Amino acid sequence: MPILKLQNVSKHFGGLKAVDDVSLTVEPGEMLGLVGPNGSGKTTLFNLISGMLTLTSGQIIFCDEDISKAKTYKRVQKGINRTFQVVKPFASLTVYDNIKVGCLVHMKKQENIHEKIMALAASVGLSDLIHDEARSLPIGNLKKLEIAKALATNPKLILLDEPFGGLSYGEGHEIIQLIKSINQQGLSIIIVEHVMSALVKLVDHVFVLNYGKEIAHGLLKEVMLDRKVVEAYLGEDYAEN
Ligand code: ADP
Ligand code: MG
Repeated sequence: MPILKLQNVSKHFGGLKAVDDVSLTVEPGEMLGLVGPNGSGKTTLFNLISGMLTLTSGQIIFCDEDISKAKTYKRVQKGINRTFQVVKPFASLTVYDNIKVGCLVHMKKQENIHEKIMALAASVGLSDLIHDEARSLPIGNLKKLEIAKALATNPKLILLDEPFGGLSYGEGHEIIQLIKSINQQGLSIIIVEHVMSALVKLVDHVFVLNYGKEIAHGLLKEVMLDRKVVEAYLGEDYAEN
C-alpha cells in the first residue's frame, strides 16, 4: 500500500493552473525527487499535500485515509511534515525551543522531551548551538534546524523544499548525509531540488512538472534525457529528436 497517493490533484489561482491534474504515489520508505523549472508548481504541490492550500479538485490519500479536507495540524499529527524553501524558524526562540515546538505535537507528557530535543539537535549537528537564537544562525544551520523542526513531529512522510538552496558545497554535503540517514530510518521523502549534483546522490526516481502538469516520471538518469524535460529546462533549441 502506498503511503501517499495523489489522484488528479489540481490547484488553480484564478485562470492559472499552478498544479494541473497530477497523480502520483509514494511507497513507504521511498525517496522521490520532484523537479521542474521555476514556477512549475512544485511548492504549490507541497502546500496541497501539507494542507496549507485547499485543492481545486482531486484527492489526497495518506496511509489509506482521504485527507483532502484535513487541516494542516491534523496532517502533521497523522505524520506529514515539510520544510520551507525560504526557511521559517521562530526567529526569537533558541534552537532548543524551535525543536521543542515540534515535539509538543505528539509528546503530551514532558518527561522525555529534553532527551528527544537533544537527540534531534545532535542528529542535525546543532548540539553546540542549542541555546543560540535562531535569528543568529547562518543559512546552513537554519537549513539543518528546518529539518530538525520537521523531524520533531515524528513524521512518516517528509517534504523537503530545496534543502540545498543557498548552501556551500561542504554544507550541502552534510545535508545529503543527513537526508540519507533520515531515509534509512524508514521515512518516506519527497524532495524538491534544483541542485542536480545533490539530487543524483539521493534519489533514483523523479517526477517532473512543467506548467503544473506531469511531463515525465521515472528513473532520474533516463528522465533527464527525455526530450520534453530537456525542452522544459533549456528550451527547444537544445532538444534533439
Ligand atoms: P515552483 O515551486 O515550482 O517554483 P510554485 O508552486 O511556487 O512553483 O508556483 C507555481 C505557479 O503558481 C507560479 O506561476 C506562481 O506564480 C503561482 N502561484 C504560487 N502561489 C500562488 C498564490 N498563492 N497565488 C497566486 N499564484 C500563485
Ligand atoms: Mg518552489
